[in-house]
Amino acid sequence: MRTMEYHRPATPAEAVAAVAEHPGARFLGGGTNLVDHLKLGVAAPSMLVDVSRLPLDQVERYDDGDGVGLRVGTNVRNSDLAAHPLVRADYPVLARALLSGASGQIRNQATTGGNLLQRTRCVYFQDVTTPCNKRQPGSGCSALEGYGRYNAVMGADPACVATHPSDLAVALAALDAQVMVLGSGGERRLGLDELYRPPGEDPSRDTTLAPDDLVLGVEIPSTGAGALSTYRKVRDRASYAFALVSVAVVLRLSGGVVADVRIAWGGVAHRPWRARSVERALAGRAVEEETIVAAIDEELEAAETTEQTAYKVPLLRRATTHTLLKLAEEDR
Ligand SMILES: Cc1cc2nc3c(=O)[nH]c(=O)nc-3n(C[C@H](O)[C@H](O)[C@H](O)COP(=O)(O)OP(=O)(O)OC[C@H]3O[C@@H](n4cnc5c(N)ncnc54)[C@H](O)[C@@H]3O)c2cc1C
Repeated sequence: MRTMEYHRPATPAEAVAAVAEHPGARFLGGGTNLVDHLKLGVAAPSMLVDVSRLPLDQVERYDDGDGVGLRVGTNVRNSDLAAHPLVRADYPVLARALLSGASGQIRNQATTGGNLLQRTRCVYFQDVTTPCNKRQPGSGCSALEGYGRYNAVMGADPACVATHPSDLAVALAALDAQVMVLGSGGERRLGLDELYRPPGEDPSRDTTLAPDDLVLGVEIPSTGAGALSTYRKVRDRASYAFALVSVAVVLRLSGGVVADVRIAWGGVAHRPWRARSVERALAGRAVEEETIVAAIDEELEAAETTEQTAYKVPLLRRATTHTLLKLAEEDR
Protein backbone atom coordinates (compact mmCIF):
# COMPACT_ATOMS: atom_id res chain seq x y z
CA MET A 1 0.00 0.00 0.00
CA ARG A 2 1.22 3.49 -0.84
CA THR A 3 0.89 6.00 2.00
CA MET A 4 0.33 9.72 1.61
CA GLU A 5 -0.37 12.66 3.87
CA TYR A 6 -3.69 14.50 3.86
CA HIS A 7 -3.92 18.17 4.76
CA ARG A 8 -6.94 20.44 4.92
CA PRO A 9 -5.77 24.09 4.89
CA ALA A 10 -7.86 26.89 6.40
CA THR A 11 -6.92 29.59 3.88
CA PRO A 12 -5.80 29.80 0.23
CA ALA A 13 -2.39 31.11 1.37
CA GLU A 14 -1.97 28.11 3.66
CA ALA A 15 -2.87 25.78 0.78
CA VAL A 16 -0.23 27.35 -1.49
CA ALA A 17 2.40 27.16 1.27
CA ALA A 18 1.59 23.50 1.96
CA VAL A 19 2.19 22.49 -1.69
CA ALA A 20 5.27 24.74 -1.97
CA GLU A 21 6.80 23.08 1.10
CA HIS A 22 6.02 19.49 0.09
CA PRO A 23 7.46 18.41 -3.27
CA GLY A 24 5.01 15.93 -4.79
CA ALA A 25 1.99 17.43 -3.00
CA ARG A 26 -1.17 18.02 -5.06
CA PHE A 27 -4.32 20.08 -4.56
CA LEU A 28 -7.51 18.06 -4.24
CA GLY A 29 -10.82 19.55 -5.44
CA GLY A 30 -13.87 17.33 -5.82
CA GLY A 31 -11.54 14.39 -6.50
CA THR A 32 -13.50 13.00 -9.46
CA ASN A 33 -10.40 13.02 -11.65
CA LEU A 34 -7.48 12.94 -9.23
CA VAL A 35 -8.84 10.10 -7.09
CA ASP A 36 -9.35 8.01 -10.24
CA HIS A 37 -5.71 8.65 -11.07
CA LEU A 38 -4.61 7.51 -7.61
CA LYS A 39 -6.45 4.24 -8.16
CA LEU A 40 -5.09 3.78 -11.69
CA GLY A 41 -1.52 4.56 -10.64
CA VAL A 42 -1.42 7.57 -12.98
CA ALA A 43 -0.66 9.91 -10.04
CA ALA A 44 1.16 9.20 -6.79
CA PRO A 45 1.29 12.41 -4.74
CA SER A 46 3.14 12.48 -1.44
CA MET A 47 0.40 14.67 0.06
CA LEU A 48 -3.14 15.71 -0.83
CA VAL A 49 -3.93 19.31 0.05
CA ASP A 50 -7.71 19.34 0.14
CA VAL A 51 -8.84 22.78 -1.05
CA SER A 52 -12.48 21.78 -1.58
CA ARG A 53 -13.62 23.33 1.70
CA LEU A 54 -11.90 26.68 1.30
CA PRO A 55 -14.52 29.44 1.23
CA LEU A 56 -14.17 29.98 -2.53
CA ASP A 57 -17.70 28.87 -3.40
CA GLN A 58 -19.51 32.05 -4.37
CA VAL A 59 -20.94 33.24 -7.68
CA GLU A 60 -21.11 37.03 -7.66
CA ARG A 61 -21.32 39.97 -9.99
CA TYR A 62 -18.34 42.29 -10.44
CA ASP A 63 -17.67 45.49 -12.37
CA ASP A 64 -15.52 44.55 -15.39
CA GLY A 65 -15.03 48.14 -16.53
CA ASP A 66 -17.44 47.84 -19.49
CA GLY A 67 -20.31 46.14 -17.72
CA VAL A 68 -21.18 43.63 -15.08
CA GLY A 69 -19.30 40.34 -15.20
CA LEU A 70 -19.50 37.17 -13.17
CA ARG A 71 -16.91 35.99 -10.67
CA VAL A 72 -17.03 32.27 -9.89
CA GLY A 73 -15.12 30.77 -6.96
CA THR A 74 -13.07 27.65 -7.67
CA ASN A 75 -15.18 25.53 -5.33
CA VAL A 76 -18.48 26.24 -7.02
CA ARG A 77 -19.66 22.80 -8.09
CA ASN A 78 -20.43 22.23 -11.78
CA SER A 79 -24.12 21.54 -11.03
CA ASP A 80 -24.51 24.66 -8.92
CA LEU A 81 -22.88 26.83 -11.56
CA ALA A 82 -25.06 25.44 -14.35
CA ALA A 83 -28.20 26.07 -12.29
CA HIS A 84 -27.24 29.54 -11.06
CA PRO A 85 -29.87 32.12 -12.12
CA LEU A 86 -27.25 34.60 -13.37
CA VAL A 87 -25.60 31.92 -15.49
CA ARG A 88 -28.90 30.72 -16.90
CA ALA A 89 -29.95 34.28 -17.71
CA ASP A 90 -26.74 35.77 -19.10
CA TYR A 91 -24.42 32.90 -20.06
CA PRO A 92 -26.40 30.06 -21.70
CA VAL A 93 -23.16 28.84 -23.31
CA LEU A 94 -21.77 28.17 -19.85
CA ALA A 95 -24.83 26.39 -18.49
CA ARG A 96 -25.11 24.22 -21.62
CA ALA A 97 -21.42 23.30 -21.62
CA LEU A 98 -21.55 22.28 -17.96
CA LEU A 99 -24.74 20.26 -18.37
CA SER A 100 -23.24 18.42 -21.35
CA GLY A 101 -20.37 17.13 -19.21
CA ALA A 102 -20.11 13.89 -17.24
CA SER A 103 -23.17 12.83 -15.21
CA GLY A 104 -25.38 14.48 -12.60
CA GLN A 105 -23.51 12.78 -9.76
CA ILE A 106 -20.09 13.82 -11.07
CA ARG A 107 -21.24 17.39 -11.72
CA ASN A 108 -22.49 17.59 -8.12
CA GLN A 109 -18.99 16.78 -6.91
CA ALA A 110 -16.75 18.40 -9.56
CA THR A 111 -15.41 21.89 -8.86
CA THR A 112 -14.77 24.77 -11.26
CA GLY A 113 -10.99 24.73 -10.77
CA GLY A 114 -10.77 20.93 -10.85
CA ASN A 115 -12.75 20.82 -14.09
CA LEU A 116 -10.32 23.23 -15.78
CA LEU A 117 -7.31 21.27 -14.57
CA GLN A 118 -8.62 17.76 -15.22
CA ARG A 119 -6.19 15.66 -17.25
CA THR A 120 -6.74 14.27 -20.73
CA ARG A 121 -8.97 11.21 -21.20
CA CYS A 122 -6.59 9.73 -23.79
CA VAL A 123 -6.85 6.00 -23.09
CA TYR A 124 -3.07 5.58 -23.10
CA PHE A 125 -2.57 8.31 -20.50
CA GLN A 126 -4.88 6.39 -18.19
CA ASP A 127 -3.33 2.98 -18.93
CA VAL A 128 -0.02 2.73 -17.07
CA THR A 129 0.98 -0.40 -19.00
CA THR A 130 1.43 1.61 -22.22
CA PRO A 131 3.96 4.27 -23.26
CA CYS A 132 2.68 7.84 -22.90
CA ASN A 133 4.80 10.99 -23.07
CA LYS A 134 2.30 12.91 -20.98
CA ARG A 135 2.40 10.40 -18.13
CA GLN A 136 6.04 9.42 -18.54
CA PRO A 137 8.03 11.88 -20.69
CA GLY A 138 10.25 10.17 -23.23
CA SER A 139 8.35 6.88 -23.25
CA GLY A 140 6.57 7.56 -26.58
CA CYS A 141 3.02 8.23 -27.73
CA SER A 142 0.85 5.13 -28.10
CA ALA A 143 -2.05 7.15 -29.55
CA LEU A 144 -0.12 7.90 -32.76
CA GLU A 145 -0.48 4.32 -33.98
CA GLY A 146 -3.21 3.03 -31.66
CA TYR A 147 -6.78 4.01 -30.88
CA GLY A 148 -6.85 7.58 -32.13
CA ARG A 149 -10.43 8.62 -32.70
CA TYR A 150 -10.29 11.36 -30.04
CA ASN A 151 -6.84 12.64 -31.08
CA ALA A 152 -6.10 16.32 -31.70
CA VAL A 153 -6.30 17.69 -35.24
CA MET A 154 -5.31 21.31 -34.56
CA GLY A 155 -1.94 22.33 -33.11
CA ALA A 156 -1.09 18.67 -32.58
CA ASP A 157 2.42 17.62 -31.73
CA PRO A 158 3.95 14.20 -32.52
CA ALA A 159 5.02 14.03 -28.87
CA CYS A 160 1.40 14.11 -27.71
CA VAL A 161 -1.87 14.16 -29.65
CA ALA A 162 -4.18 14.20 -26.63
CA THR A 163 -7.15 16.55 -26.54
CA HIS A 164 -8.29 18.56 -23.54
CA PRO A 165 -11.51 17.06 -22.17
CA SER A 166 -13.17 19.98 -20.37
CA ASP A 167 -16.44 21.33 -21.79
CA LEU A 168 -16.37 24.17 -19.27
CA ALA A 169 -12.98 25.35 -20.58
CA VAL A 170 -14.35 25.62 -24.14
CA ALA A 171 -17.23 27.83 -22.99
CA LEU A 172 -14.90 29.96 -20.88
CA ALA A 173 -12.54 30.40 -23.85
CA ALA A 174 -15.39 31.79 -25.96
CA LEU A 175 -16.37 34.04 -23.06
CA ASP A 176 -12.83 35.49 -22.77
CA ALA A 177 -12.73 34.44 -19.13
CA GLN A 178 -9.74 35.03 -16.88
CA VAL A 179 -8.52 32.41 -14.43
CA MET A 180 -7.56 33.86 -11.03
CA VAL A 181 -4.50 32.18 -9.58
CA LEU A 182 -2.69 32.49 -6.25
CA GLY A 183 0.93 31.33 -6.22
CA SER A 184 3.97 31.81 -4.03
CA GLY A 185 4.61 35.12 -5.84
CA GLY A 186 1.09 36.47 -5.25
CA GLU A 187 -2.10 36.67 -7.26
CA ARG A 188 -2.38 36.88 -11.06
CA ARG A 189 -4.92 36.43 -13.86
CA LEU A 190 -4.55 34.30 -16.99
CA GLY A 191 -6.64 34.01 -20.14
CA LEU A 192 -7.43 30.44 -21.22
CA ASP A 193 -4.80 30.73 -23.99
CA GLU A 194 -2.24 31.63 -21.34
CA LEU A 195 -3.34 28.88 -18.94
CA TYR A 196 -2.98 25.90 -21.29
CA ARG A 197 0.32 25.16 -23.00
CA PRO A 198 1.21 23.11 -26.10
CA PRO A 199 2.82 19.68 -25.45
CA GLY A 200 6.14 20.90 -26.91
CA GLU A 201 9.24 19.75 -25.11
CA ASP A 202 7.30 18.65 -22.01
CA PRO A 203 3.91 17.03 -22.74
CA SER A 204 3.53 16.14 -19.06
CA ARG A 205 2.64 19.77 -18.32
CA ASP A 206 -0.85 20.70 -19.51
CA THR A 207 -0.73 24.23 -18.16
CA THR A 208 1.67 27.07 -17.42
CA LEU A 209 0.86 26.78 -13.70
CA ALA A 210 3.48 25.85 -11.10
CA PRO A 211 2.59 22.96 -8.74
CA ASP A 212 1.85 25.44 -5.94
CA ASP A 213 -0.40 27.70 -8.07
CA LEU A 214 -3.90 27.52 -6.63
CA VAL A 215 -6.84 28.38 -8.87
CA LEU A 216 -9.04 30.80 -6.91
CA GLY A 217 -11.78 31.06 -9.51
CA VAL A 218 -12.66 32.61 -12.84
CA GLU A 219 -13.86 36.02 -13.94
CA ILE A 220 -16.23 36.11 -16.89
CA PRO A 221 -16.69 39.54 -18.45
CA SER A 222 -20.06 40.79 -19.57
CA THR A 223 -20.97 39.61 -23.10
CA GLY A 224 -22.65 42.94 -23.84
CA ALA A 225 -26.29 43.84 -24.33
CA GLY A 226 -28.09 41.64 -26.85
CA ALA A 227 -25.41 38.94 -26.98
CA LEU A 228 -26.55 35.40 -27.71
CA SER A 229 -24.57 32.32 -26.79
CA THR A 230 -24.78 28.57 -26.91
CA TYR A 231 -22.79 25.32 -26.76
CA ARG A 232 -23.14 22.33 -29.02
CA LYS A 233 -21.41 19.05 -28.27
CA VAL A 234 -21.21 16.09 -30.63
CA ARG A 235 -20.50 12.78 -28.94
CA ASP A 236 -20.99 9.04 -29.25
CA ARG A 237 -23.80 8.90 -26.65
CA ALA A 238 -26.39 11.50 -25.65
CA SER A 239 -24.85 11.78 -22.18
CA TYR A 240 -21.88 10.64 -20.14
CA ALA A 241 -19.46 10.94 -23.06
CA PHE A 242 -16.62 13.28 -23.94
CA ALA A 243 -16.80 15.51 -27.01
CA LEU A 244 -15.81 14.23 -30.42
CA VAL A 245 -16.05 17.90 -31.29
CA SER A 246 -17.82 20.77 -29.58
CA VAL A 247 -18.55 24.40 -30.41
CA ALA A 248 -19.05 27.35 -28.08
CA VAL A 249 -20.34 30.55 -29.68
CA VAL A 250 -20.95 34.04 -28.33
CA LEU A 251 -22.61 36.22 -30.97
CA ARG A 252 -23.79 39.82 -31.07
CA LEU A 253 -25.53 41.12 -34.16
CA SER A 254 -26.21 44.73 -35.03
CA GLY A 255 -28.28 45.78 -38.00
CA GLY A 256 -28.21 42.22 -39.35
CA VAL A 257 -24.42 41.89 -39.38
CA VAL A 258 -21.92 40.47 -36.92
CA ALA A 259 -20.84 43.09 -34.37
CA ASP A 260 -18.95 40.55 -32.25
CA VAL A 261 -18.44 36.81 -32.52
CA ARG A 262 -16.32 34.48 -30.44
CA ILE A 263 -16.00 30.81 -31.32
CA ALA A 264 -14.16 28.08 -29.41
CA TRP A 265 -13.84 24.44 -30.42
CA GLY A 266 -13.48 21.47 -28.09
CA GLY A 267 -12.24 17.97 -28.87
CA VAL A 268 -9.79 19.20 -31.50
CA ALA A 269 -6.66 20.33 -29.64
CA HIS A 270 -4.70 20.11 -26.39
CA ARG A 271 -6.66 23.18 -25.27
CA PRO A 272 -9.90 24.91 -26.26
CA TRP A 273 -9.26 26.15 -29.78
CA ARG A 274 -10.34 29.73 -30.49
CA ALA A 275 -11.33 29.84 -34.16
CA ARG A 276 -9.92 33.32 -34.54
CA SER A 277 -9.69 33.43 -38.32
CA VAL A 278 -13.38 32.44 -38.51
CA GLU A 279 -14.15 35.27 -36.07
CA ARG A 280 -12.20 37.78 -38.19
CA ALA A 281 -13.82 36.59 -41.42
CA LEU A 282 -17.34 36.95 -40.01
CA ALA A 283 -16.89 40.41 -38.46
CA GLY A 284 -19.19 42.93 -40.14
CA ARG A 285 -20.80 40.24 -42.35
CA ALA A 286 -24.30 38.79 -42.42
CA VAL A 287 -24.60 35.31 -40.90
CA GLU A 288 -24.98 33.27 -44.08
CA GLU A 289 -24.09 29.65 -44.71
CA GLU A 290 -21.72 30.31 -47.61
CA THR A 291 -19.73 32.92 -45.68
CA ILE A 292 -19.51 30.74 -42.60
CA VAL A 293 -18.40 27.61 -44.45
CA ALA A 294 -15.70 29.53 -46.35
CA ALA A 295 -14.40 31.01 -43.07
CA ILE A 296 -14.38 27.63 -41.30
CA ASP A 297 -12.62 25.92 -44.19
CA GLU A 298 -9.90 28.53 -44.10
CA GLU A 299 -9.31 27.91 -40.38
CA LEU A 300 -9.40 24.15 -40.90
CA GLU A 301 -6.73 24.27 -43.59
CA ALA A 302 -4.30 23.93 -40.68
CA ALA A 303 -5.93 20.68 -39.52
CA GLU A 304 -3.69 17.61 -39.54
CA THR A 305 -5.78 14.47 -39.65
CA THR A 306 -5.32 10.72 -39.86
CA GLU A 307 -7.68 8.05 -41.13
CA GLN A 308 -9.17 7.92 -37.63
CA THR A 309 -9.61 11.69 -37.13
CA ALA A 310 -10.50 12.83 -40.67
CA TYR A 311 -14.19 12.81 -39.68
CA LYS A 312 -13.60 15.74 -37.33
CA VAL A 313 -13.16 18.27 -40.16
CA PRO A 314 -16.61 17.89 -41.78
CA LEU A 315 -18.15 17.40 -38.32
CA LEU A 316 -16.69 20.68 -37.09
CA ARG A 317 -17.76 22.46 -40.26
CA ARG A 318 -21.35 21.25 -39.93
CA ALA A 319 -21.62 21.71 -36.16
CA THR A 320 -20.20 25.25 -36.28
CA THR A 321 -22.30 26.33 -39.27
CA HIS A 322 -25.48 24.93 -37.77
CA THR A 323 -24.77 26.53 -34.38
CA LEU A 324 -24.12 29.97 -35.87
CA LEU A 325 -27.19 29.86 -38.12
CA LYS A 326 -29.48 28.72 -35.28
CA LEU A 327 -28.13 31.38 -32.94
CA ALA A 328 -28.59 34.13 -35.53
CA GLU A 329 -32.21 33.00 -35.98
CA GLU A 330 -32.81 33.77 -32.28
CA ASP A 331 -31.98 37.41 -32.98
CA ARG A 332 -34.85 37.74 -35.46
C1 LIG B 1 -17.10 9.03 -16.27
C2 LIG B 1 -16.71 10.47 -16.39
C3 LIG B 1 -17.21 11.23 -17.45
C4 LIG B 1 -16.84 12.56 -17.57
N1 LIG B 1 -17.33 13.31 -18.62
C5 LIG B 1 -16.94 14.61 -18.77
C6 LIG B 1 -17.39 15.40 -19.86
O1 LIG B 1 -18.14 14.95 -20.72
N2 LIG B 1 -16.97 16.69 -19.92
C7 LIG B 1 -16.13 17.24 -18.99
O2 LIG B 1 -15.80 18.41 -19.10
N3 LIG B 1 -15.68 16.50 -17.96
C8 LIG B 1 -16.06 15.22 -17.83
N4 LIG B 1 -15.59 14.48 -16.79
C9 LIG B 1 -14.54 15.01 -15.95
C10 LIG B 1 -15.06 15.76 -14.75
O3 LIG B 1 -15.71 16.92 -15.21
C11 LIG B 1 -13.83 16.08 -13.92
O4 LIG B 1 -13.41 14.89 -13.31
C12 LIG B 1 -14.11 17.15 -12.88
O5 LIG B 1 -14.55 18.34 -13.45
C13 LIG B 1 -12.83 17.43 -12.09
O6 LIG B 1 -13.16 18.30 -11.03
P1 LIG B 1 -12.76 17.92 -9.53
O7 LIG B 1 -13.10 19.07 -8.68
O8 LIG B 1 -13.33 16.60 -9.14
O9 LIG B 1 -11.18 17.82 -9.72
P2 LIG B 1 -10.11 16.94 -8.96
O10 LIG B 1 -10.17 15.54 -9.39
O11 LIG B 1 -10.14 17.21 -7.49
O12 LIG B 1 -8.77 17.62 -9.53
C14 LIG B 1 -8.46 17.61 -10.90
C15 LIG B 1 -7.10 18.30 -11.06
O13 LIG B 1 -7.19 19.67 -10.71
C16 LIG B 1 -6.29 20.01 -9.65
N5 LIG B 1 -7.01 20.98 -8.82
C17 LIG B 1 -8.24 20.82 -8.27
N6 LIG B 1 -8.61 21.99 -7.69
C18 LIG B 1 -7.60 22.88 -7.89
C19 LIG B 1 -7.40 24.26 -7.56
N7 LIG B 1 -8.32 24.97 -6.90
N8 LIG B 1 -6.24 24.84 -7.93
C20 LIG B 1 -5.29 24.13 -8.59
N9 LIG B 1 -5.42 22.84 -8.93
C21 LIG B 1 -6.58 22.24 -8.60
C22 LIG B 1 -5.97 18.69 -8.96
O14 LIG B 1 -4.70 18.70 -8.36
C23 LIG B 1 -6.02 17.73 -10.14
O15 LIG B 1 -4.81 17.76 -10.84
C24 LIG B 1 -15.96 13.15 -16.62
C25 LIG B 1 -15.48 12.38 -15.56
C26 LIG B 1 -15.84 11.07 -15.43
C27 LIG B 1 -15.29 10.27 -14.27
